Amino acid sequence: MSTWTNWAGTASADVTVVHPASIAELTRTVAGAAERGQRVKAIGAGHSFTDIGVTDGIQLRLDRLAGIVKADRGTGQVTVLAGTRLHALNEALWQLGLSMTNLGDIDVQTVSGAISTGTHGTGAKLGGIATQVRALELVLADGSLLRCSAGEHPDIFAAARVGLGAIGVIATVTLQCEPAYALAAAEAPGSLDEVLDELDDNLLGNDHFEFYWFPHTRRVLTKRNNRVLPGTDLRPVGRLRHWVDDDLLSNRLFDRINRLTTRRPALIPRANAIATRLLSARDYIDRSHRVFASVRTVRFREMEYAVPRASVPQVLAEIERYLADSGELIGFPVEVRFAAADDIWLSTAYGRESGYIAVHQYHRREHEPYFRAVEAIAMDVGGRPHWGKLHYRDAATLRTAYEHHDDFVALRDKLDPERMFGNEYLTRVLGG
Ligand SMILES: Cc1cc2nc3c(=O)[nH]c(=O)nc-3n(C[C@H](O)[C@H](O)[C@H](O)COP(=O)(O)OP(=O)(O)OC[C@H]3O[C@@H](n4cnc5c(N)ncnc54)[C@H](O)[C@@H]3O)c2cc1C
Repeated sequence: MSTWTNWAGTASADVTVVHPASIAELTRTVAGAAERGQRVKAIGAGHSFTDIGVTDGIQLRLDRLAGIVKADRGTGQVTVLAGTRLHALNEALWQLGLSMTNLGDIDVQTVSGAISTGTHGTGAKLGGIATQVRALELVLADGSLLRCSAGEHPDIFAAARVGLGAIGVIATVTLQCEPAYALAAAEAPGSLDEVLDELDDNLLGNDHFEFYWFPHTRRVLTKRNNRVLPGTDLRPVGRLRHWVDDDLLSNRLFDRINRLTTRRPALIPRANAIATRLLSARDYIDRSHRVFASVRTVRFREMEYAVPRASVPQVLAEIERYLADSGELIGFPVEVRFAAADDIWLSTAYGRESGYIAVHQYHRREHEPYFRAVEAIAMDVGGRPHWGKLHYRDAATLRTAYEHHDDFVALRDKLDPERMFGNEYLTRVLGG
């Protein structure tokens, strides 16, 4: 037995760890656990804030099931083993002349962990990572291996792409990639009012648009990432600038400031205002995956809500009102991203164009009152919580947020009647 803890320190479990080295060993492990009536759960990089990855039985670590097993440069379809980390995938794809269509803002997750909770980046015309999946091979609760895609077991495919680890253990993922591309990144400070006034233009005019709003100020940092023509020279961020902006300001100094403001929260509005002045505009061009990903060393807690895109200004205004009325002081920026509608049953963007509003709190400070208040605001506009980030919803209210919640539960009942893959989180969000 060993003790496992997630990245944020919000979930832990005493587990028996197994590292299968082949898909055959993976199926044997699951079948053996089924015979003994033991629970099993695959874990990725442990970067979910929720207890979604907890088990009281066998923890499957798929670090030996990593890498590309098949790649077709013509179609752009690439099959990878479930434990492949996104940073390794991105570099391997680049060597093949391929890239992912969209990615989130870190790259340490496993491909399976990322899709299972609906991990997404930003881009009003683009979906989350799971929308790039074309097929999955799953180890079911009886230890059998099943392939699903749009044409093979389509209902399982619709459920398992954002499957919360409840449908089966993913063994391989087939991704639709595209010719490798670079992105021109433009980061600039701006005003919240201006960004919201010009939101539609920003979304239509950029491949990937997002912004960070600094609470207790009316200032934002905008990020616009756009594809450049093949053959364009790369102009990566210089090493010094990278160290100053991405290491010193975004991590080391930010951590210092958070330690200080944890002791003296009254300094937060001034610290936020100074932070917005320290941020200066920068432009660079780099391989797409290097532009998408950043390094996060400051520990925090996070909740993120997907809301109808048109509700974003209202939700931000209500968060601002809540902070003013409650006197709560928040030192982390609110991150706002966007995604196109998709057709994956439990995708937070299912059936609607979405805006994502992510709130963060330093790990040494209390997050619950803030997160609960933001959750109530987001729920009023039909918000759906990110499955891998903190939230307080249960099956009763999530049923009303997802057209296919009942279908997902029925499929889980059929495929995992003994709850081999079950845990407290799944009982909470799916029912018993
Ligand atoms: C610093 C930080 C930044 C983040 N940035 C973003 C972001 O930009 N966008 C975003 O949407 N999210 C983001 N997240 C959330 C994160 O992407 C998700 O929580 C993701 O699920 C983590 O991937 P993981 O590999 O760590 O999975 P884990 O957290 O280890 O597992 C997540 C779920 O996947 C299941 N799972 C893992 N492997 C398998 C498998 N082989 N078969 C079946 N189920 C499996 C687990 O059982 C669990 O239920 C961020 C999190 C952190 C801590």
